[in-house]
Amino acid sequence: MLYDVLIIGAGPAGITAAIYAKRSNLKVAMFEKDTPGGQLSKYNEIENYTGTKKLAGYELATMMIDHAYELDIEVIYDDVIKVELDGNVKKVVTPEKTYETKTVIVASGNNPRRLGVENEDKLAMNGISWCAICDGPLFRDKKLVVVGGGNSAVEEASYLASIATHVTMVQNLDNLTADPKAIDILKAHKNVDYRYGSVVTRFEMDDKGMTGVTIKNNKGETETISAEGAFEYIGMIPVTDFIKDLGITNKWGYIEANDKMETAVPGVFGAGDVIVKQIRQVITAAADGAIAAQNALKYVEAWKK
Ligand SMILES: Cc1cc2nc3c(=O)[nH]c(=O)nc-3n(C[C@H](O)[C@H](O)[C@H](O)COP(=O)(O)OP(=O)(O)OC[C@H]3O[C@@H](n4cnc5c(N)ncnc54)[C@H](O)[C@@H]3O)c2cc1C
Repeated sequence: MLYDVLIIGAGPAGITAAIYAKRSNLKVAMFEKDTPGGQLSKYNEIENYTGTKKLAGYELATMMIDHAYELDIEVIYDDVIKVELDGNVKKVVTPEKTYETKTVIVASGNNPRRLGVENEDKLAMNGISWCAICDGPLFRDKKLVVVGGGNSAVEEASYLASIATHVTMVQNLDNLTADPKAIDILKAHKNVDYRYGSVVTRFEMDDKGMTGVTIKNNKGETETISAEGAFEYIGMIPVTDFIKDLGITNKWGYIEANDKMETAVPGVFGAGDVIVKQIRQVITAAADGAIAAQNALKYVEAWKK
């Protein structure tokens, strides 16, 4: 079977692209290797998506994927490991099967960047987490470290401060760089303290798990903060390994797309956090998805094998 559009990733960008494609009567399917809703399903609250006011990330994620199911959009729960070109036909490859399509919309988003310090791999998902809403409750009444100082770090630290006995923020810069409102909310928590101009040099552990986080400040002084858990929010890495041979990514791995979401390969589009862009948010990801689907429609209408 030849699809009109195959969408890789069921985050806000992919789901919106799927809704627009389906409503244009295109033969569409969407791949998801993890949780539908993408990153949204993994954080505490969202209050800047127009019209929804304040709600939990997973609630908006559920509303989005329900919308797709209501339109009978095919969702394939599988990991896309490669996209290949065969003339005008694109092949989307999963471990067990290959799917053929006229167009592809890559909406695979980002993954959290890791610190790369000693004991991080040993404690990953067992003391160190990248998802406060998923793992925060495991650290009730414990001492935590949050690494980072941008919006994600500050917003998730506010949530963690309401669960943990104490949170220490470790930020490499001399101030927090999140939105002022998010900083005000965090600063209202009395059980949070701050280490500025500091980087994590290693995680401390014994046979039961994490015991502390060692940091070094810009004066060269080291300190070990007692902690049973740590959350890292130090930026993201685009998920583009599976398209690296297409020549549509820049040196950091982000897809270069124009304002029609077209890449250098005709019929391959990018949308959402995975493309080079200024603002990576739910609302801009959804907008990219809509634009990509509209231009996929134009490509399909003009398509010749
Ligand atoms: C902690 C945190 C807090 C945030 N807070 C806000 C906020 O308050 N407001 C806001 O607007 N934005 C917020 N954001 C940003 C927002 O979540 C993202 O901009 C948005 O989710 C991007 O959507 P996307 O569809 O491009 O990618 P994603 O949401 O990353 O979705 C991509 C999807 O693709 C899937 N995928 C990847 N590779 C493959 C593959 N090979 N095969 C199959 N599936 C694949 C992934 O599993 C994922 O589900 C926050 C982000 C984080 C991390």
